[in-house]
Amino acid sequence: MSLTIQNLSATIGETEILKGLSLEIPKGEVHALMGKNGSGKSTLAKVMAGHPAYTVTGGDIQLDGESLLEIEPDMRSRMGLFLAFQYPMEIPGVTIANFLRAAVQVRLAEGEELEAVAYYKNLYSKMDALKIDRAFTARSVNEGFSGGEKKRCEILQMAMLEPSYAVLDETDSGLDIDALKIVSDGVNALRGPERGFLVITHYQRLLDYIVPDVVHVMVDGRIVMSGDKDLALKLEAEGYDWVEKETAAAA
Ligand code: ADP
Ligand code: MG
Repeated sequence: MSLTIQNLSATIGETEILKGLSLEIPKGEVHALMGKNGSGKSTLAKVMAGHPAYTVTGGDIQLDGESLLEIEPDMRSRMGLFLAFQYPMEIPGVTIANFLRAAVQVRLAEGEELEAVAYYKNLYSKMDALKIDRAFTARSVNEGFSGGEKKRCEILQMAMLEPSYAVLDETDSGLDIDALKIVSDGVNALRGPERGFLVITHYQRLLDYIVPDVVHVMVDGRIVMSGDKDLALKLEAEGYDWVEKETAAAA
């Protein structure tokens, strides 16, 4: 069981951003994806989720053996894929409580009704764990939230939906150290044999709290190097230039 990306190429407009990218995330593992700004990390996340602005021009994305390419974003989500956005959207007029309730309801078996008391109990316990004030349930999704509040709200969504595979795009950006710790605890609580993670980050710091099984480095639309968590420390200390030189020399 894995989330598998094979030789994926994708364009936006006339520009090719992903250039034959391969990656496999088995259930039970946490993979980190690192790379300079502009290397295509968010593009990968959005293509996985089925963002309509991108065109897949080659390769495949498979969730437990099933291709996602012809499947609509909401169905990908119901199949167990979750994406936490780098820049979460504001949804004026839709409260967090109603948004999450609809998302949880649609995942139940046909004819099954979400029981309100149990739902709120679950929601509040997860909000408490993420130190999100309960008053937020009545606020519109992300509207007027600070950067850190938006990121915590993304993790709350993940905690409520319990996806099989979660992609977190720079969830650490905009978080101070206390919020980083809360968010990391939230992710670590969901770690387990039934779930795989792709944690996208620009900085090594997050990986002190969410210790990855594998670290991948992305340069110009491809994974050019993979290693263990020490690779992240080396990137932090030495930057990305040596990776580009080594891969250029190997090519
Ligand atoms: P990262 O998340 O690694 O910083 P992105 O996936 O956001 O990288 O961007 C990868 C590349 O795609 C960048 O060079 C960026 O300028 C380009 N890009 C992103 N969005 C668009 C767009 N709408 N039109 C053209 N190029 C884009
Ligand atoms: Mg990005």
